[in-house]
Amino acid sequence: MAKHLNVLFLSSEVEPFAKTGGLADVSGALPQTIKNLEHEIRVMMPCYGCIDERKSKLHDMIRLKDIPVQVGTKTYQASVKSSFISSNHSKVQVYFLDNPSLFGRPGLYVQPETHKDYPDNDERFTFFSRGVLEVLKKMGWQPDIIHCNDWTTGLVPAYLKTVYRDDPFYRDTKTVFTIHNMAYQGTFPKSSFPKTCLPPELLSEKGLEAHGKMNLLKSGLVFSDAITTVSEKYAEEIRTSDEYGCGLQDIADKRKSDLTGIINGIDYNVWNPTVDELIPHRYDFRTIELKKENKKALLDRMGLPLKDGIPLIGIISRLADQKGFDLISESLDAIMKMNLQMVVLGTGERKYHDMLGKAAKKYPAKIGVELSFNEKLAHLIEAGSDMFLMPSLYEPCGLNQLYSLKYGTVPIVRATGGLDDTIEDYHPSSGNGTGFKFNRYESAEMLKAIQRAVQTFADEATWKKIIKHGMSKDFSWESSARKYIRLYRSLVRK
Ligand code: ADP
Repeated sequence: MAKHLNVLFLSSEVEPFAKTGGLADVSGALPQTIKNLEHEIRVMMPCYGCIDERKSKLHDMIRLKDIPVQVGTKTYQASVKSSFISSNHSKVQVYFLDNPSLFGRPGLYVQPETHKDYPDNDERFTFFSRGVLEVLKKMGWQPDIIHCNDWTTGLVPAYLKTVYRDDPFYRDTKTVFTIHNMAYQGTFPKSSFPKTCLPPELLSEKGLEAHGKMNLLKSGLVFSDAITTVSEKYAEEIRTSDEYGCGLQDIADKRKSDLTGIINGIDYNVWNPTVDELIPHRYDFRTIELKKENKKALLDRMGLPLKDGIPLIGIISRLADQKGFDLISESLDAIMKMNLQMVVLGTGERKYHDMLGKAAKKYPAKIGVELSFNEKLAHLIEAGSDMFLMPSLYEPCGLNQLYSLKYGTVPIVRATGGLDDTIEDYHPSSGNGTGFKFNRYESAEMLKAIQRAVQTFADEATWKKIIKHGMSKDFSWESSARKYIRLYRSLVRK
């Protein structure tokens, strides 16, 4: 049998410890699946102040204290705490890189009250990337692969190719860099570059510089041994279009032979209506009638009246341009004219908070809005809604459409990135399909798709068939985890 691999999975957010979006779900679930497939995988993340250390059972690692980490002219001390992510089947060790002055704050990347980036994010994530490499050496655990995720870890591949190039400890270590969202690049003024302590020639178009700034996502793109992103369509989009490549499409295209798309899976231990402990009535397709009980609970929770035969559309999302909220904003009155109700859970940009807050006042019987981050309500929305709307401008993978399929909540999506790869448009002629898709990023197109869904909903038998198709789809992590393992192996052999 082939030797097991040692993999360090690096992420700035990991469910259940700290989460702002899909990256946390991936980081919580993929390592467990890889571990189940008999590889040694451990996770490392920053030790944020918002992590409840008692509830999450963090322990100090006594041997790993006060490890010096050079960030520019400063030396920070790194310590390590440890805990586990565990489910029925596996237990994955999670290390928390700790420096209270940098990470002992309530937010991950932004100040929660103002939504403004912490001004020292360059220093924080330089410390994280370099600290990881220092800590591993002290620990004496040599990974075959360091799997980096997004810009917050983008310096690691650059360090391994330069500062640590001749370090025997890392001689056989390869890097995989996964892009979860090309639009978040970690850009800083060029004056931040000395903090990285990388060789000065890396501050150039060949290295970390892009459009006059230091760009940490670019660092990952240029220096990693392999690049992945979270759907095949998005892998194509980011290297062929200005719009999706966000200024780095040429770099991505240059590395097209090393760039692959691997779709995210979902954790059916967490997102599964048959076992979900956060919803009042558990169900599967045979007991789909119970979905109506969840709908009642959801309408009640959101202060909306129950109206028989009217579909309820759910939205759970960061309130950001990416997610299509300008389309929703433009067409809200038109949507509200249709025979439907809507619930929205989200937090993010102020203008969308205002827009949704106003909508809830204007249409109190039709739309319920909660402007917060609320895991429990997210589960209830998946269980209680009839449809789920994701009109994204772009969507690297998207998770909620996959949760929706499992919960018998029919997705209405724009055909972009992972949404296009995972949802099949319903065709009345063939009777096939798992949802409703539209192509152009225009409100008229979105409205047509919603209209089609609402009309189809009126035909109960057809609607049930669409639900059945969706619920029978399998987006569990295993097949994607095997793809990652194949990729790791291809690098280790080289
Ligand atoms: P992204 O990572 O771009 O935000 P994804 O669809 O990949 O989008 O993942 C979003 C994840 O975050 C999902 O698990 C979703 O349920 C969750 N989420 C987003 N906003 C909220 C919120 N306000 N409350 C609870 N969960 C949320």
